[in-house]
This record gives sequence, C-alpha cells and structure tokens, in this order.
Amino acid sequence: MNEPLAALASFAEGMKLWLYDRQKAALFSLAQREEPSHIQGESLWKAFLTALLEDISDLDFTPIARELAALGQYQGPLNLKQWFQQSLLGQFPAEIAEGLKESLFALLAQQDEWLEGGWKQKISANPLAALAEIEESLLLPTPWEGARFLNLLGFAYPCSKGSFHAFLRYWGGGQRLRYADWYDLLSRQVGEVQKASAQDQVWDWAFSAKASGILPSLCQEKPDCFACPLKAECQFYQKTRSKNQIAQVENALTLANPEEQSSAELLAYLL
Ligand code: SF4
Repeated sequence: MNEPLAALASFAEGMKLWLYDRQKAALFSLAQREEPSHIQGESLWKAFLTALLEDISDLDFTPIARELAALGQYQGPLNLKQWFQQSLLGQFPAEIAEGLKESLFALLAQQDEWLEGGWKQKISANPLAALAEIEESLLLPTPWEGARFLNLLGFAYPCSKGSFHAFLRYWGGGQRLRYADWYDLLSRQVGEVQKASAQDQVWDWAFSAKASGILPSLCQEKPDCFACPLKAECQFYQKTRSKNQIAQVENALTLANPEEQSSAELLAYLL
C-alpha cells in the first residue's frame, strides 16, 4: 500500500485531469473563499446552523440566524431558551434538538469573542488547536462540523467528508486517518491550506452526499465507479472488480464449457 501522501498526490492528479475537461479553472475560482475581515452576528449563526444541520435539513437558515444574532446581542440564555422552544429548531427530534440547544447556548456565551476578533486571532495562530478548542467548547459531535463552520465563515479549512471517504476508498488505508491528518495531508500535497481548502471544495462537488448539480455524484454509499476518473488506481474498485471477475468466471465454469473461457481469465481465476 502507498504512503497516504503519495496516494493523495495520485488521487489529486486523477481529479485534476478529469476536472481539466470540465472547466477546472472556473470551478476553482468558484471555490475560493476570502478570509473574513470582520465576522457579523448573522453570518456567525448561519454558518453554525448550516454546519450542524445541513445534512438533515433543507431549511433556509438566514431568517433564523438573523433572529439569533439579534437575540444573542441584547438578551441572555433564558430568552434563547424560550425562543428555541418556539422556533423551527425546537421542532427537530428531541435527541437532535437537545444537543443543538446546548451548542447554541455555548456559542451565545462566546459570541462577543467571535464578533470582536478573538477567535480570528486564535485561528490564525494555530488552526488545528483552535479547531480542537471549538469542537470541545461548542459540544460538536466531531471536528468535521467545526471545520465546516469555520469554512463557511471564510477560514481555510478543508471540510468535505465525501472527499475524505472517497480518498480512503481510493487509498485502501482503512480508517487510520483522522481529520487532523487529512488537514495536514491536503496542506502538504498542495503546499498551503488556502489552496487545499479550495481543492477540497471542488472535490466535494463530485463526492458530496448531496448532489451538487455542478459535477456528477460519484463515491456515495453505492459508488459510481464506472463513471469515476479514479477507478484505474482505486483500491476499493480494484478489489470489488476482482471479486466480480472471479464470480463471473466461476459462474461460467459451472454453467458452460471451460474451453469457452479465455486463458487470461482462467489464469487470473487459478492464481
Ligand atoms: S473508483 Fe469508485 S470507490 Fe474509487 S473513488 Fe471512484 S467512485 Fe469511489
């Protein structure tokens, strides 16, 4: 098995060649994000809600974020609790609503620090340490929600779980990589995290669980390997295909005359 950095270089090359035919330059300019000079309350809450809920809800979070920004600025947690119970967010299933409410309270307590630039400084000083602190203090389930939150605010954090999972299949290295390793690998492969984050966003359009409408969805629960530009080197595809080939040959040997099998297929089967 290749080292992950070598596998990532080949994964990136395969995607680059494929995207070159699909207006790669335009896609990369679409994916670029500007680091925010100043964070507004509404964008803070909208990014947070989107990061936590986009996989389970198609709600437009803009009006809710606007209300939260106004509420958070002038009032305290008690009013947030009342507001939450009456809002659309309170209508999520209890296990989601409870966790969400706790995370919203935690963000409310930090809101001034976000709006006054304290978190921006921490992120610039040490992005991964800041992410770990955000994950813990905002009671997030995994680092991915934190990375998505920060990415939506404009900070350079790769956050495509779909790209990560496609790479794990491609590489065949199992689940040994964590978010921090992925951040590090992508940054080393491209040379800087801003470009890595834009590249990850472009890949996400092909590997995200939600169809982007920009690129075809490739590597989902049932991966569309035949359409995927990475199949020639993809460990998952190679293993699946070999199993299918063996099954086909076994089938043919059972049902038909072995002489009808090509010698190459028989040799592959016997080996
Ligand atoms: S070849 Fe299949 S399993 Fe491999 S990355 Fe592509 S879609 Fe995923």
